[in-house]
Amino acid sequence: MKITDIREARVSIASDIANAYISFAKMDVSVVAIYTDAWADGRQVVGYGFNSNGRYAQSGLLRERFLPRLQEAEPAALRDESGGNLDPFKVWSVLMANEKPGGHGERSVAVGIIDMAIWDIVAKVENKPLARLLAERYGDGNTDERVSVYAAGGYYYPGKQIQGLQDEMRSYLDMGYTCTKMKIGGVPLAEDLKRIEAAIDVVGDASRLAVDANGRFDLKTALAFADGLAPYGVRWYEEAGDPLDYALQQQLGEHYDPPMATGENLFSHQDARNLLRYGGMRADRDILQMDPALSYGLVEYLRTLQVLRSHGWSPRQCIPHGGHQFALNIAAGLKLGGNESYPEVFAPFGGFADSAPVEEGRVALPELPGIGFEDKRELMALFRQHLS
Ligand SMILES: [Mg+2]
Repeated sequence: MKITDIREARVSIASDIANAYISFAKMDVSVVAIYTDAWADGRQVVGYGFNSNGRYAQSGLLRERFLPRLQEAEPAALRDESGGNLDPFKVWSVLMANEKPGGHGERSVAVGIIDMAIWDIVAKVENKPLARLLAERYGDGNTDERVSVYAAGGYYYPGKQIQGLQDEMRSYLDMGYTCTKMKIGGVPLAEDLKRIEAAIDVVGDASRLAVDANGRFDLKTALAFADGLAPYGVRWYEEAGDPLDYALQQQLGEHYDPPMATGENLFSHQDARNLLRYGGMRADRDILQMDPALSYGLVEYLRTLQVLRSHGWSPRQCIPHGGHQFALNIAAGLKLGGNESYPEVFAPFGGFADSAPVEEGRVALPELPGIGFEDKRELMALFRQHLS
């Protein structure tokens, strides 16, 4: 089999939300469709990929560097041993030819977009859901039937802080979520604590609420918030400081006993390894949030999971950032601890299959070949509009 065409476009996902660090007013993503000459179930096999929210479209890197490498490669250099399917690891090596190590920048995002589309193809050619393919190739053969998901949001509502936040949290419970996450660090500690109490009142228990500072704090502020948060027992305290400040994370862990979470802005297995070596993260309670769509794709995420295991971590401590179907398949197939979800923002990239509503905080995966985008009407309409 071979790749016959590749299409790429930039799509806006601008929204009026903001976290403690950035506004999403100009946020966009890249979408890619990779066409092949393979047919499965009477249809031409086409793989789709996009980048996760929070990093911008990668048009330049895709058009000038990574897609030409894929297009110029000999078909045999991309195929698996059977010759009838692509080999994601070979594709990855072709993409990363002549790239120096380190300094991962955002090329990891561009490669992640292509990697997503390649895995979509590989599973479609095998005519099975990606989750099952992953369980068979790299897991114990069985998938988790339903994956734990939590609703990430908890934004700031100037002028109606408490009411706006409580309404938002209530809407997540109405949608079937049992756990939520809210932003902190955008207002002084005392004000955030009032917001946290208000959110706990709605979700019912602090263990159902995580808080996220989006890397905003210096050590002193991170520790002050840790002191403020400790009595509540929230589910986790996320990205207190700069994602690459492992010393800050380590000092926070010495000071703050409940679970911490970080990793969504680590884009390589080497960065993840440094976090585990130097960040003081605790395998018995802390949460790792590396997002395969932002960090060189699933080929690299498999390496990251290997790093985790070698440091004594279980994949169950991983709950990827991003809220997309790609990570949901990985969570089900490789038995991670769950997946993030962004109800109603970043549509139609966020969210899961139309046929699989969230129930009691969990979501099922459709029995469709590939990642399952075909069971997401609005997303497929967007792909058709921009990529066909
Ligand atoms: Mg976060």
